[in-house]
Amino acid sequence: MSHIPFDTSGVFIAGLWRPCASGETLPLFNPSDGSLLAQIARGTAADIDAAVAAAQAALDGPWGQLTAAERGRVLHRMSAKVLEQADELARLEALDVGKPLKQGRADALALARYLEFYGGAADKVMGETIPFANGYTALTLREPHGVTGHIVPWNYPMQIIGRSVGAALAMGNACVLKPAEEACLSALAFARIADEAGLPAGALNVVPGLGEEAGAGLSGHAGVQHLSFTGSVSVGSMIQAAAAKHTVPVTLELGGKSPQLVFADADLDAALPFLVNAGIQNAGQTCSAASRILVERSIFDDVVARMATRYRALRVGAALSDLDVGPVISARQRDVIEGYLALARQGGLNIVAEAALAEGLSTGGYFVRPTLVADVPATHRLAQEEIFGPVQVVIPFEGEAEGLRIANGTAFGLVAGVWTRDGGRALRMARKLKCGQVFVNNYGAGGGIELPFGGVKASGHGREKGFEALYGFSTLKTVAIHHG
Ligand code: NAP
Ligand code: MG
Repeated sequence: MSHIPFDTSGVFIAGLWRPCASGETLPLFNPSDGSLLAQIARGTAADIDAAVAAAQAALDGPWGQLTAAERGRVLHRMSAKVLEQADELARLEALDVGKPLKQGRADALALARYLEFYGGAADKVMGETIPFANGYTALTLREPHGVTGHIVPWNYPMQIIGRSVGAALAMGNACVLKPAEEACLSALAFARIADEAGLPAGALNVVPGLGEEAGAGLSGHAGVQHLSFTGSVSVGSMIQAAAAKHTVPVTLELGGKSPQLVFADADLDAALPFLVNAGIQNAGQTCSAASRILVERSIFDDVVARMATRYRALRVGAALSDLDVGPVISARQRDVIEGYLALARQGGLNIVAEAALAEGLSTGGYFVRPTLVADVPATHRLAQEEIFGPVQVVIPFEGEAEGLRIANGTAFGLVAGVWTRDGGRALRMARKLKCGQVFVNNYGAGGGIELPFGGVKASGHGREKGFEALYGFSTLKTVAIHHG
């Protein structure tokens, strides 16, 4: 077993580590070799009850008494500790999620930056006074929802914790966090960091466990006033249905099939690294992965050839070897991806490039060869469904109208990229693309912590990241005072 420098088997409730109510544990595996990594708590509804009660007690106690500036200072202390421990967090994430170390480190730095950003924002969220009838003063107050639930997936635990828990704490909510059963270590490390940084007990509670047990317990809990979920469409709709029973608002971030459109006038040298990286980053297990590359027909063959060259040069290996691509999260996820690749072969699709796997990889690891597939019909399952693996499809188009039709022609709408030197076209496309974020002559804007993020259609609703998230994690109260 690889060395994990803390006890991983507990739940964190009311500032204390304790065994979960069931007394059972779940195994955590290292995706690079399939070995047993640690045992985590199998939290259930009973633990969620205790966590929600602890969060409510924190709101009624010391956490609820802090001023906005004091909350900001706590977040800044947490940020500094994350930075101090960035290398260790990257190592944990490499072992747990299979991320190459540089990606794990980038995630840790993003977590620190979210805490810095939201720490700084905590005391800058203001209400308004409203011109109203004579004899009245009318004003608005931004207040926390209360207890917020955070259900987090395995693909970017630190970044998603940063953007959702960070914003929720800044607004004065108390959080119950349910990490994914397949990747919990950074969430547990985060709880330890919060504790060391002096976050008052109960402001953050962490309950690992199965989705159907701890997750369902949290999404259906009557004591929770807001839910934030990132993951699959199917579970997202279940969360929304569960929350509806108690009329609890939800933020859903459900992934996508995001396109990058490359017009013939684009600066291809600038575009090329973004086209490929946005497909293979985190082994393609990224909600905003650019899994569809739409290329104007006159430059189609050139772009495909240049992408193929990059694919062939990709190095795939164990997370601790820190190559370009690591393993995927699980054997199940690998089998899903291999299923799509089999579909491509059966359908006679044009597989133009596959990356090689490094020599001597453990046969127990969950490795997939990054694969580029060209000339894919826009309605094909590979061009419509979220594969969540290092697979990109390249689709030709002719002119703005067809590009838009293909770009908007999936169930999803999370992110899009546009590559062109024509400013008017860039703006026309940005306005007509049906999604939550558009990047012009870049993709992802280096993580974009300050940029509101979220989807339309099956990609979900609500916005996280940026200042906007602070509105989502708060509720507005209007006060009308009659004074004559
Ligand atoms: P998932 O099942 O949607 O899991 C996301 C989170 O929801 C995890 O914490 C999970 O816990 C929890 N969960 C599962 N069932 C639940 C339930 N009934 N009630 C409450 N919470 C529940 O996603 P997955 O199985 O890990 O991945 C499946 C597919 O989802 C992927 O192939 C990908 O297409 C998509 N996905 C998208 C994103 C994204 O960033 N948008 C992230 C991850 C996955 P457990 O893991 O412990 O079950
Ligand atoms: Mg799952």
